[in-house]
Amino acid sequence: MSTRSPRGDTARDAVLSGHGISLSLNGTTILNDVDIEVRAGEVLSLVGPNGAGKSTLLAVLAGDHAPERGEVRLYDQPLSAHSARALARERGMLLQKQNLAFGFRVHEVVEMGRAPWHRTDRAAYDETVVEASMKRADVTHLRDRHFPTLSGGEQARTAFARLLAQETSILMLDEPTAALDIHHQEQVLEVAREAADSGSAVVVVLHDLSLAAAHSDRVCVLAQGQVRATGTPREVLTPELLSDVYRHPVQVLEHEGHLVVVPQRRRRKEEL
Ligand code: ADP
Ligand code: MG
Repeated sequence: MSTRSPRGDTARDAVLSGHGISLSLNGTTILNDVDIEVRAGEVLSLVGPNGAGKSTLLAVLAGDHAPERGEVRLYDQPLSAHSARALARERGMLLQKQNLAFGFRVHEVVEMGRAPWHRTDRAAYDETVVEASMKRADVTHLRDRHFPTLSGGEQARTAFARLLAQETSILMLDEPTAALDIHHQEQVLEVAREAADSGSAVVVVLHDLSLAAAHSDRVCVLAQGQVRATGTPREVLTPELLSDVYRHPVQVLEHEGHLVVVPQRRRRKEEL
């Protein structure tokens, strides 16, 4: 079964999906009956307020966190049917919080992304892939720097390069742009788009709703552990839904063919 995506390319079936995912921690419901599909050829943005459950949902989809109820399927098999090594070759995760890689230089951190391919034919390409990944994440000039000495944005791009070096067909990115300047925000999402265009599946947590609108095929809005809406940016990013979910009045404007989402603000005194 194929559907036409809004960009006019053909979206294939879900490669990674969660069905009826529920989870509570210390008696608090964190995820409540969540359905989500990550499809090849698509960028899916996961948005929602702080604490909505976005990172937890990614961890469940990645198999790093078992749900209490529901099932995660990878290529139409339960996640548990795949070995840890097989999983590491299929999906890669950029975590929201980077673990400080003490003592390692940037190129060594990126080389760690190749671990799932050790002792396979593809290990022959390790060096080429590492170099290309550093270039795509714009960290080549930092290659000999120690990871902990980098700025937050440089660390995030190094972690992104490591993820690219892993060469998985499913990319899971948790707030990859949070620490980045405008140039690097756009660059990371363009690389995500290229990956999707070449057949990968990308799921990315974003707080900047204008970025999500510009770069996603579909957007999933999560609030209080529940999916409030999933669809194209135009279907989902409405002032009504966003104002409700974020508990702040939000306007959605149109600019050069893209939606721009802005919080409504009080006018400054001098303008009144
Ligand atoms: P998001 O990524 O959307 O900001 P998270 O998935 O990180 O949200 O967290 C969802 C909720 O679950 C938050 O309220 C958070 O405090 C809570 N939470 C996450 N991990 C734990 C944990 N180990 N124990 C208790 N509560 C947790
Ligand atoms: Mg999070």
